[in-house]
Amino acid sequence: QALPQALADGEFSLVYQPQVLDGKIPVGVEALIRWKNGDMGQVPPDRFIRISEGNGMIIDIGHFVIDQALYDLSEINRHHYCQNLHLSVNVSIRQLQENGFTERLSASLLKYEFPANQLTLEITEGIFIDDLQYLIPVLHKIRSLGVKLSMDDFGTGYSSLSLLKQLPVDELKIDKSFIDNIATRNEDRLMVLNIIDIAQNLGIKVVAEGIEQAEQSHLLLDLGCNLQQGYFYCGPVDLDRLVEYCEQSNWSFEKN
Ligand code: C2E
Ligand code: MG
Ligand code: MG
Repeated sequence: QALPQALADGEFSLVYQPQVLDGKIPVGVEALIRWKNGDMGQVPPDRFIRISEGNGMIIDIGHFVIDQALYDLSEINRHHYCQNLHLSVNVSIRQLQENGFTERLSASLLKYEFPANQLTLEITEGIFIDDLQYLIPVLHKIRSLGVKLSMDDFGTGYSSLSLLKQLPVDELKIDKSFIDNIATRNEDRLMVLNIIDIAQNLGIKVVAEGIEQAEQSHLLLDLGCNLQQGYFYCGPVDLDRLVEYCEQSNWSFEKN
């Protein structure tokens, strides 16, 4: 019930989590939405995104996220160490079903002068097969702008492999649940190795998410996954802290 008013009242904001190359250099960020409500305090996205998909509010929320993220990234672009940061934004399938989604996306890219090929839309693979006939042409249209597509939470849905075969994607994100035990369970490590192989054989970029320990990060680098995201590097942070993080990382990289 509080959702419809939340957007008008400015209760949503974005935080950014760095994506790190070779365990060292931040090369991109994922935008993550936050909702702070007067009565309820912080409400996590896992609790309100699904509801907003159900009542259609995700359309407006989604436009807010894309526009705000493009604006923010063009702002921090002015800092030496944050130039050319890649931006990943989560979108739900419901947003892609809106008429004119691609046109509006294209207009936003122009408005904020953000290069299309520096933007990735992350979609979660929990898609019903019924949606595919509609979805595939939309995904092709989005890609024709130069925007990239990523399959989020890869491996957790019913039909990851079948979808991977059918959907035009540029990247897959290995879900945290596979990463959690890679340092302790051989099966998990092999599973991740195989996912990385599939991606590489298909010429798709692979990102691992939810890295919390140095050991996980090293193992993933050994397995050939050089793009990583997780609390081990940096949690989701506001813009000021993001700039600090980029400055510090690049600085220590240049020193060593
Ligand atoms: P996701 O896209 O898979 O995002 C990753 C989630 O894992 C984020 O949770 C992030 O804060 C968390 N995370 C990152 N690194 C670590 C780690 O090392 N350990 C642990 N335990 N967690 C980590 P968050 O921000 O609560 O978002 C949850 C989900 O909500 C996202 O999963 C995404 O599916 C959805 N979401 C978030 N923002 C948006 C948005 O703007 N639009 C849409 N449609 N969905 C969003
Ligand atoms: Mg995501
Ligand atoms: Mg994910």
